[in-house]
Amino acid sequence: MARTENKRASLVVPAGNFEKLRFAVRYGADEVYFGGDGFNLRAGSGNFSLDDLPGALKFCAESGVRTVFLLNAFLHDGQIAAAREYISCLKEFRFDAVMVSDPGMMALISEAGAPWQLHLSTQMSTLNRYAAKFWEDAGISRIVLAREATLDEIRAVREHTSAELEVFVHGALCISYSGRCLLSRYLSGRDANLGECSHPCRWRYALVEEKRQGSHLEILEHASGTEILSSKDLCLIHRIPEYLAAGVDAFKIEGRMKSVYYTANTARLYAEAVSLAGDPAAFAERLPFWRKELNLISHRPYTDDLFNEFSAMEASRSVPYLRGALYLGHYEGPGRDETECLATVRNPIRAGEAIEAIFPIEDSIVRDRSYIVREIIDGDEATRMARPGRVCMLRFDTPVYRDAVFRRAPKV
Ligand code: SF4
Repeated sequence: MARTENKRASLVVPAGNFEKLRFAVRYGADEVYFGGDGFNLRAGSGNFSLDDLPGALKFCAESGVRTVFLLNAFLHDGQIAAAREYISCLKEFRFDAVMVSDPGMMALISEAGAPWQLHLSTQMSTLNRYAAKFWEDAGISRIVLAREATLDEIRAVREHTSAELEVFVHGALCISYSGRCLLSRYLSGRDANLGECSHPCRWRYALVEEKRQGSHLEILEHASGTEILSSKDLCLIHRIPEYLAAGVDAFKIEGRMKSVYYTANTARLYAEAVSLAGDPAAFAERLPFWRKELNLISHRPYTDDLFNEFSAMEASRSVPYLRGALYLGHYEGPGRDETECLATVRNPIRAGEAIEAIFPIEDSIVRDRSYIVREIIDGDEATRMARPGRVCMLRFDTPVYRDAVFRRAPKV
């Protein structure tokens, strides 16, 4: 399907499992992307079994959110029979699109007569007009451009294809070309191209002189260690209007493995940024709030260097990981009155403490606020502390809205 001029750009949000999908949808996603039992590039994400898919698709359809299912692994020849079998099981599901990387996977989908639109993964490194046209002619309706694509390249591609164009705007970056990398396979036997990356580019390294085995010489980059290869995190929220002007149709957030808090907060901030991109004054006015909130998510130092003509890949040269607010848990259901809710707990919450909650932004209204935790009930018992993994009833000093995500702000 060719792109439609004047359609609002889409925000595409990761949904590593059903819980994250629910929050991605409630916090502003136009599309969610998720994988199944195999053949996607996040083997460690919760993912969706064949039994989970009907519920996920129904929830998204009722919410008016499109679904992109990931079949973007690169197939070894010996995996063809298993992939063929998996596609035949998936055929009945009405995904809005399926993401592929490998032309072999495209051939198997076509052979099965599956009705899905096809999106091409960033893994295929599309950077120029001929590549884009090639993929459009091959049946791809949306191309996720290489993360290395500059603004000029995006404009050039835009002029020569009517396929939709998608770019990554937020999240972790690889130091390898469009994520195609063998480091993990060599160092830990886990193949990034089969979704099993162990992130060795972010391990801490030291230098060992050949004759002094066991004597590790530090190459100190910062007080807490050395990540020689580690890249900064991408953050292009301030560049969204420029991307739109260049003809981008969809903006993607990285991070199926990240938390509900990350999913919810990035989704609501980028959703608002995309919706205000045509109003420069409103966009500029809200930008400081978006930046403040993005800094309250754990991240490596942010960069937009890929956008700035890719002069040098910005490795992280300062603090490797900036701790934002601590994700404490999220709304699971209503309580006995409006000051209570059932919450899934991810980090300890203590009775008597002040915590914060964020909420979806609707009509630019931010309802975030702090709460005093008055009472915690775990099962039938009142307790002083809600423990990770439990679903507890929390009672607050003031009414709590649906879809809260709770956090503890960092001490300054
Ligand atoms: S090791 Fe690092 S660069 Fe390589 S695929 Fe994994 S995250 Fe990307």
